[in-house]
Amino acid sequence: MGNFVLGVDLDGVVADYYSRLREIAAEWFDCPLNELPVDPKDISEWGIDSQEEYERIHYFAVTERKLFATMQPIDSAPRTLRMLSNDGVRIRIVTHRIMTRRIHEPSIVQTVKWLDNYGIPYWDICFLGEKSAVDADCFVDDTPEQINRLVENGKRVIVYTNFTNTQIEEDDLIHRADDWKRVKELVEQLKDQDSGE
Ligand SMILES: [Mg+2]
Repeated sequence: MGNFVLGVDLDGVVADYYSRLREIAAEWFDCPLNELPVDPKDISEWGIDSQEEYERIHYFAVTERKLFATMQPIDSAPRTLRMLSNDGVRIRIVTHRIMTRRIHEPSIVQTVKWLDNYGIPYWDICFLGEKSAVDADCFVDDTPEQINRLVENGKRVIVYTNFTNTQIEEDDLIHRADDWKRVKELVEQLKDQDSGE
């Protein structure tokens, strides 16, 4: 039997995307950071209230503020991924980061540099939106649309909790983790289950 493959999303799971986006939104809309709620209902509460505005701020964030190179990691994510990798879990990064035209190069370069900078191990890296096209024994993701599509395709998903996904309920294919300690426990359980232990 091959290695257990863990499909790992980056933004909102390994990289603290929303904290960095909030900082950049404060600059973009010229308002004090503390006026933007830390746990909004959605990002319209930061002034990003249309797809067009999101695309404009995203383009600025990647090209002028090196968004993907300047995020902090989520607590314990790099260390936990190193531990899982040492235990024989094959880390497969699966990210939708090149969704915006014209900024593929900075998006990809910033991403791989950031992963190296935090010592995050991975065997494979997939930049794509249709995540269910990727094979993995389990995925970790935070975005409801992605999670739903993965589950519709019979994939197991660990939902990494943040303000975007609190409505998602656990079931046979869906588990929830509020931190990386829980991700590790769940991955170990699933791995043991699959190997018949
Ligand atoms: Mg994400």
